[in-house]
Amino acid sequence: MLFNRSRALLVSLLGLVLVASWASADSAKLIVTNAKLFTMAEGQPDPFDGHLVIGHDGRILAVGPGGAAGWESENIVDLAGAWVLPGFVPAHSHLWQSAWRGLAADQTLMGWVDALYLQHARYAQPEDFYWFTLQGALDHVRHGITSTYNFNYGGWAEREMAQAQLRGEMESGVRFVHGQNFGGWGEVPQPAEAIAEVQSFLDWMDSQPTGDQLLRVMVNGTAAFRDTANAAETEAAIARTFALGNHLHFLESAPDQYEERSRFRWMIDEGLITDKILFGHFIHVDPWILEQAVAAGASMSWNPLSNGRLASGTPDIPLYLKTGLRIGMGVDGQASADRADPWENVRTGLYAVRAKYGDASVLSPYQVLRMHTWGSADAMGVADKVGSLEVGKFGDFVVIDPTDFGVVFDAYATLAFMAGQEHMTGVYIGGERVVAAGETLKHDFAGIRIEVNQRVRQAGAPGPTESQ
Ligand SMILES: [Zn+2]
Repeated sequence: MLFNRSRALLVSLLGLVLVASWASADSAKLIVTNAKLFTMAEGQPDPFDGHLVIGHDGRILAVGPGGAAGWESENIVDLAGAWVLPGFVPAHSHLWQSAWRGLAADQTLMGWVDALYLQHARYAQPEDFYWFTLQGALDHVRHGITSTYNFNYGGWAEREMAQAQLRGEMESGVRFVHGQNFGGWGEVPQPAEAIAEVQSFLDWMDSQPTGDQLLRVMVNGTAAFRDTANAAETEAAIARTFALGNHLHFLESAPDQYEERSRFRWMIDEGLITDKILFGHFIHVDPWILEQAVAAGASMSWNPLSNGRLASGTPDIPLYLKTGLRIGMGVDGQASADRADPWENVRTGLYAVRAKYGDASVLSPYQVLRMHTWGSADAMGVADKVGSLEVGKFGDFVVIDPTDFGVVFDAYATLAFMAGQEHMTGVYIGGERVVAAGETLKHDFAGIRIEVNQRVRQAGAPGPTESQ
């Protein structure tokens, strides 16, 4: 009897808890009002004046025109007409490279690779890579990037290196697709061996407290750099076993394009080319390669700043769009796109394509801005989480003060042609402000930069002229 009574009491107490949480269902972590919203969502190209509501789990509860009626929060921000876009998403970054900006200034890809990898990176220690990754990620966030792909340095066999870089990714607060290498630069592992290695990596990743920051894991592909079909075979086996995506650098370098194109046959024959393949750069295609990529549902990352700096070339984006290729944009590593800035990336890409065609109508400001947000999220297979401001996705966004813009004739044109870091008053991740007027709010960025520079000096190779 007593037992039943206590149980009844417990049940009614639980009921009260449920009622209490139900009653506070309309309370939010953050309410943004009086914003001009550029959601970048499918079928919503027209910006509108409205509100954005972020829940306590960091996800968007509501977004729409007018006021945020029916919602309550202790944190209400009236933007007085400021512009709000989803945080930028680069589908191609190497965060550790932030240590070596300005390197090999007169080199195309392979000369630059030699300088970076053989003269510098090989001398750095795992703990250095923690700091380099942290600096690289925070520099992304300062420029309005809230989610990024990250090519980690080194293979899973180098445990400490891999662990240090994951710590850097996590500490920065950025959301990321973790790109991991398997096998070294020597022999390609046999499929069974590689599968065991990937399983051990995934078990370890599962044990890490990555929370909402880790968007997914992908393989950093190497099949385009190998002289035999083994890499394509092994990477296809990994993709089949774990349903992991593969981000494959392909057709970046102009001088190496002939050799790389000849390897595409292996990738097709081994079954590597599917909708889980994300081609990095993908500049020097031929009609057959493009056709096969589109037919498979593959995607690409376009990296205009890096492609310009290294004289790699300009992909035929208008043609790719016409054929239906899925396209995202990337800022690449900061040693080849020294300023990790999506605004500069959008402009550089748009202008390179227009100049190549001699036609200003071949690519629009809206198209490039969408490629750098939703397009990249789609290319990485994470468009259900980030890339546009829609209910259920993460509340990651940037706030832009339009005062400087004068009379606005076409808001997307103003954004693509004129906007820059100096116009961003805030960067939010999961409804939390992490950057104000270019300064990180949760990290001592200046201190991190000093630490990185000391480590670069100590990394063995002669350094460039340094600012501090
Ligand atoms: Zn790259």
